[in-house]
Amino acid sequence: MPQNITLLGATGSIGHSTLQVIAKHPQNYRIFALSAYRQADKLIALCQQYRPQYAVLVAADASQRQALQAQIPETQLLIGEQALVEIAQAPEVDTVMAAIVGAAGLVPTLAAAQAGKRVLLANKEALVMAGELFMHTCQQHQAQLLPIDSEHNAIFQCLPPNYQAHTLQDLGIEKILLTASGGPFRTYSAQALLEVTPEQALAHPNWSMGPKISIDSATLMNKGLELIEACWLFTTTPEYIQVVIHPQSVIHSMVAYRDGSVLAQLGQADMRTPIAHALAWPKRIDAGVKALDWWQMGALEFAAPDTERFPCLALAQAAFQAGGCHPAHLNAANEEAVSAFLQGQIGFTQIAQTVDAVLQQIPNTGAHTLETILAQDQQARRYARQVIAKW
Ligand code: NAD
Ligand code: MG
Repeated sequence: MPQNITLLGATGSIGHSTLQVIAKHPQNYRIFALSAYRQADKLIALCQQYRPQYAVLVAADASQRQALQAQIPETQLLIGEQALVEIAQAPEVDTVMAAIVGAAGLVPTLAAAQAGKRVLLANKEALVMAGELFMHTCQQHQAQLLPIDSEHNAIFQCLPPNYQAHTLQDLGIEKILLTASGGPFRTYSAQALLEVTPEQALAHPNWSMGPKISIDSATLMNKGLELIEACWLFTTTPEYIQVVIHPQSVIHSMVAYRDGSVLAQLGQADMRTPIAHALAWPKRIDAGVKALDWWQMGALEFAAPDTERFPCLALAQAAFQAGGCHPAHLNAANEEAVSAFLQGQIGFTQIAQTVDAVLQQIPNTGAHTLETILAQDQQARRYARQVIAKW
């Protein structure tokens, strides 16, 4: 029997890579539902190709619905945010790929966990905002959580199979080594960073990704979000995690053990590898990715991160340590700042400054319920917009 898959964020970069892997294995995986925010044409084309039972277009008005529905007779087209929850929880669904970008992914991803689905997590922002609630929900409803983020997928592959039943200390683990490419501005001076444009920031040297994560990679906020993500996924704290700049992105992360062994996962910088890994886990399937070319690879370099030029990493670490809603505040302020940067309203270095200003001003609070987290997300966005307006 093929696994039934709901793909949240089908029109994005991870959505595209997921569909490529699934298309190679029609006997193993069946697309049950696809979602998009407002790219109607792209969603319709995907429905015509993959013939899912349901498709969700979040931001469409009811007047568009009939004309779109007529183009996809085999698929039922739903509209609005609540429909994302329905396709995440439908009883037919085995696996949910959470590939919506940003805070918008939290509610449907959490809904998938509540329904006990196998959750393939690309949407790191959901875990940053609601780590404790999310991990607790997965446990309570026996939802299997598999990381798609290439670093976390690599770490998962370097841990023993039953790692969740033990502490990292019991497993003899000294450090998790979270690798980072360093982004397009790794070698820029603090002065040069003041001048960089959205176009330059969007051009990542190794990975082809959506716009938001590309900017996060340039500020190193992506690594900050990933540090928090790793703390929740592997039940640890920032002291156990060392960020290692590795510009070639051949090693996707490592685990260092007490006896001096370091296990690493290597591969092409191609998200189809972690996607195929998580889809098939614990089996292995062809991802359509070329083998590493050892003779072309050249030297692998490693360096320490520079938190003076790239303060976002330290901001994320501090937000995790503060706990409560501070990680959600960090994420919300960052989303607002990235969007303002992309629209030319603020400079590159003001992204980190906006996040810092919001975290300094906003009162922290516990993050025990979804309602509180969502309200705090909105509150932090209001603070961020005020800060942005004053720059
Ligand atoms: P993207 O911008 O290419 O795609 C985002 C998807 O989310 C699209 O399908 C879009 O329609 C949908 N979406 C956007 N706003 C929405 C909203 N308000 N409501 C519902 N749906 C909405 O992004 P991406 O690069 O594919 O990244 C998706 C997630 O995966 C992010 O959380 C990112 O951090 C993570 N991730 C991406 C990569 C990568 O290589 N692209 C790697 C690791 C992790
Ligand atoms: Mg990553």
